[in-house]
Amino acid sequence: MYYSYFEIFSVGIGPSSSHTVGPMRAAKRYVDNLHQQGFFDKVEKIEVILYGSLALTGIGHGTVKAIVYGLMGLEAEAIDPQIPYVNAVERDHILHLNQEKAINFSLDKDVIFKKEIFLKEHSNGLEFKAYDKEGKELLNEIYFSVGGGTIARQDEITRRISRVPYNVPYEFNSYKELREICEKENKNISEIIYENECAIHGKEYTDEGIMKIYRIMQNAVDRGMKTRGILPGGLNLRRRAPEIYKQLEENFVKNNYDPLQIIDWINLWAFSVAEENASGGQIVTAPTMGSAGVIPSVSRYFERFAHVKSPYTIEEGLKIFMLTASAICCLYRSNASISGAEVGCQGEVGVACSMAAAGLTAARGGSLSEIESAAEIAMEHNLGLTCDPVGGLVQIPCIERNAMGAIKAVNSTRLALSGKGQHTVSLDSVIKTMYDTGKDMQNKYKETSLGGLAANVATC
Ligand code: SF4
Repeated sequence: MYYSYFEIFSVGIGPSSSHTVGPMRAAKRYVDNLHQQGFFDKVEKIEVILYGSLALTGIGHGTVKAIVYGLMGLEAEAIDPQIPYVNAVERDHILHLNQEKAINFSLDKDVIFKKEIFLKEHSNGLEFKAYDKEGKELLNEIYFSVGGGTIARQDEITRRISRVPYNVPYEFNSYKELREICEKENKNISEIIYENECAIHGKEYTDEGIMKIYRIMQNAVDRGMKTRGILPGGLNLRRRAPEIYKQLEENFVKNNYDPLQIIDWINLWAFSVAEENASGGQIVTAPTMGSAGVIPSVSRYFERFAHVKSPYTIEEGLKIFMLTASAICCLYRSNASISGAEVGCQGEVGVACSMAAAGLTAARGGSLSEIESAAEIAMEHNLGLTCDPVGGLVQIPCIERNAMGAIKAVNSTRLALSGKGQHTVSLDSVIKTMYDTGKDMQNKYKETSLGGLAANVATC
């Protein structure tokens, strides 16, 4: 199934696409449905129930705040992080449903956490119930946040139709098929994706949008490099990006040459975005928010350093990077998962690493075999990566993990290019292996904060 570039890279508010963007969209869709089905005017009370992983890590991941945004009818792109929408609800116990109607809403009583219940369809479940003034239930809907901010209602997920398929000129479900299309059409992957996007959104929107997404990513890098302070949530983690930046600048002024300083730059850019994400800043899912630092870091590395080894201009190379990364994400979404709650962090930082490696290889002028090899190497060495965020916050191990993912992506590209793309393991088989591994992984390692580092690191 084809996933659009603009669906894969969507703008939202940190810290977690599954826990913030998805629930926000579900809440907004539920309110729209109340309207469509003629219940809206009768609503006196709303109740939200969080299940499984959403209940276990929802507080640390900002889920309640996101649900309030959605019930207020706000879209992620329109939210101003400076406005304390939720503080007002917390203080007054009044929620402005769809910004049209005030109802009583208590964050403590009307958002219920059922941590022990994992719904069978997906571990990120949430249920909405609306009641009239007599206490009669008006509309009950269950949604699932299935990764990268994508949602599916219960009836849709059981029928596996979480979305209407796009009508695109080039459909592909495996790298093998994508490669065959490229060879038959004599086009590279980015040209195939570009034509698909033009078919969905039109040429003007596509041309403007591809680099607009890139610039929003890089704005997060720039903000993160300069913003000092302690990350919210109680772990008292200091933001490190400004310190890394300062050291790099000082080394430059003092002519303090370090042959590995490019690694520090890649770390810096990944930390910048991951720290922005952890503090609820505006982020682009790539493919999720927890893993949103990898692609901005590796693309910045291309822009700043690696373009000298590319046959393309910087702008051309960046477009090729982003469109190729998008194609690789389609394969993971169609054949596996990008949800930490479903397959662990291999589906988040692992997929981001694979996308970035493919993007960078393509931008360097790599062949179809080299792109496949880079994407495959990147995932192969993330297989089994668990999701165990300490304190349910997208901070430890997530921030450093983004930096490690970015470094691994760069190395995967180098290995693929130096090996001329020769590989034994196909990308399709590593994607299947990632999904199989994720299904076999115990729930405590899948965004529940019940195992791994989350269980062994003291948080107070
Ligand atoms: S460990 Fe990975 S999957 Fe889990 S919250 Fe952190 S970044 Fe996301």
